[in-house]
Amino acid sequence: MELRFLAKDLIPLHYRKKYQIHAIDWDGTSLHFDSDIPVPSEIHDTILHELGLETPESKDENASLKGDEALECFFSSAFQRRTTDIHFEAQEKKVCIRYRIDGHLQTVDFIRHEEYHKMIRVIKLKAGVDITENRLPQEGGFRHEAGQFDIRVSIVPSLYGEKTVLRILPIQKAYNTLQTLGMTEDQIRIVQMAVQKRSGSIIVNGPTGSGKSTTLHAVLQEIDCKAKSVLSIEDPIEIVDQKICQFQVNEALGLTYAEYLKRVLRQDPDVILLGEIRDKETARLACEASLTGHYVLSTIHTKTTADVVLRLLEMKLEPFLIADALQLIIHQRLVRKSCPYCSFEEQIPTPLQDLLQIETQKTGQGCYYCNNTGYLGRIGLFEINQISERARDFVFSFLSHADLDQCMELLNEGIRFSMKDHASTLVRNGLTTYQEVLPCL
Ligand SMILES: [Zn+2]
Repeated sequence: MELRFLAKDLIPLHYRKKYQIHAIDWDGTSLHFDSDIPVPSEIHDTILHELGLETPESKDENASLKGDEALECFFSSAFQRRTTDIHFEAQEKKVCIRYRIDGHLQTVDFIRHEEYHKMIRVIKLKAGVDITENRLPQEGGFRHEAGQFDIRVSIVPSLYGEKTVLRILPIQKAYNTLQTLGMTEDQIRIVQMAVQKRSGSIIVNGPTGSGKSTTLHAVLQEIDCKAKSVLSIEDPIEIVDQKICQFQVNEALGLTYAEYLKRVLRQDPDVILLGEIRDKETARLACEASLTGHYVLSTIHTKTTADVVLRLLEMKLEPFLIADALQLIIHQRLVRKSCPYCSFEEQIPTPLQDLLQIETQKTGQGCYYCNNTGYLGRIGLFEINQISERARDFVFSFLSHADLDQCMELLNEGIRFSMKDHASTLVRNGLTTYQEVLPCL
């Protein structure tokens, strides 16, 4: 068999580093590595595909599968790996398939365009969209009964074909509690005390995909739903909670957040979970509700706690209304958890030891359980801000953006547990690494 030497530079850098690869050979069927750490066989296949090489077996395997069978293969491997999204990206010669696991994309396979065409036909049929349309974006969805998942489908035409993203949503999510999300006992106590009040609000903020809705539903677990009327207005309903009454926003029918809110407020609710505040009318109704005997839990899509106030001011909401309604703001991010199966104690670089007030951390070196990433699952990073009286007084009389700096300073006064404090606690407890928390600080 002919042996061909391949420049090791062709191998993606992260693999070269991880397995300390010195040289590589391709014999037309498989790859041979000269490396310090054994390269797992599934990585062989991924590298083969990334190099655009195909083994005789992989060609036969792909050719024999029908569209629905191939799709099912991807679903079953995605479900096993706790994947939240499957991306199909059409490139010039092939289609790249990537899974989002714990918030990070990982390349899992490359398939030929013919295989992708068969698969996308099945996806379109299942999702209830036009199977003949390939020039316009389309959206749909279906339920994967066996896997107990709802699949949300988004298809957008790109240069070399349609890019498809399948969002995987578990139908029955196990109820998360504030403990399982990663809040400390002190943080939980503040939230528990806040939701015991008859009226008020908790606003959770953070970027997309930081687990804001999951936190809101976890806060609901602290409320006695048997003795109170608790309802949620969401778009979409991702977590089904049998203890409460849930409403799905339907813009096409005119059932917007604001419209639903107006209607349900007449039904005397005690607690309202409002999926998101994104327009002035909803913001006004939510603030008014929280001042008139209702408890409102909601999210605002902003990067910092202080931005919540700015966002509400930008929505042209009257400062006095904001000042009265704002009570507790939870800022959150999600970080990956160190894999418990392959973690070892490691020294933290000196400048960061000072910043985080810790010397060592638990770092995963990569194993079968964590897909060689060193991380398994995710945990929340929380900052709790109990808005101080002084800050509320200041917002109340907020006149112009010239006051902004002072306003931000006063708002930060209420921070009980800063992002940095919580990050240090999580790293100290061996739950995550400084590499994960640093981008959030
Ligand atoms: Zn591991």
